[in-house]
Amino acid sequence: MQSEDSIVKVAGEVVVCRKCRLSETRTQAVPGEGSANSKVIFIGEAPGGDEDLQGRPFVGAAGKLLTELLATIQLKREEVYITNIAKCRPPGNRPPRKDEATACRPYLDRQLALIHPRVICPMGNSAIHALMDKAEGVTAIHGMPFEVGSITYFPMYHPAAALYTFQLRKVMEEDFRKLRGLLDSLP
Ligand code: URA
Ligand code: SF4
Repeated sequence: MQSEDSIVKVAGEVVVCRKCRLSETRTQAVPGEGSANSKVIFIGEAPGGDEDLQGRPFVGAAGKLLTELLATIQLKREEVYITNIAKCRPPGNRPPRKDEATACRPYLDRQLALIHPRVICPMGNSAIHALMDKAEGVTAIHGMPFEVGSITYFPMYHPAAALYTFQLRKVMEEDFRKLRGLLDSLP
C-alpha cells in the first residue's frame, strides 16, 4: 500500500527530528496544531519557552493574545492551523538561523501541501521574509493582502510585538477585522 503523507505523520517526524542543532537544546519539538481543513494558517517564528515545555505552539503570553485576537473575529484556535517556521526553540529565543530555517522548511512545506490553506498569515518579520518575496518589513506591509496564484498572503505583526508596544494591539485588531473580511470574501 502506498504510504500517504498526513499531518500526523509530519508531526511524528518533527518530534524526533535531529536535522539541525536546535534539536540539541530543545525540550520538545513543536510541530503545530489545529484543523487540517482550515482555510487559514498562522505561522510564527519559532517556539518560545512555554511552547518548548508543552510541545504546543503559541501557548505562552503571545499565544494568549493570538487566541484573543482570533476570538474577536469568531475563530477558535482549534478551527485554524497554527505553526512556526522553526519547529524547535532556539536557545535564549534568538531568531532561527538561516541553516536551521532551511533544515526545517520541508516540514512546513508538507503541512502547507496537506492543509492547502487559501490564506497564509506570516506573523512578524521572520515568517514574512521566509515566506514572502518582499523586501519590506512588517511595519510597511502588515494587513495588506498579496495574491500569489490561488493563495493570499496576509502578513501580520507577531502578537509578541503587541505585548511590548501596547498601541499595536489596536493595529492587530484592525488587521484581524480585515482578515475576517478576506476570509468571508473567499469564493
Ligand atoms: N512565538 C512564536 O513565534 N511562536 C510560538 O509558538 C510562540 C511564540
Ligand atoms: Fe528538526 Fe526543525 Fe527541530 Fe531543526 S528545528 S531539529 S530541522 S524539527
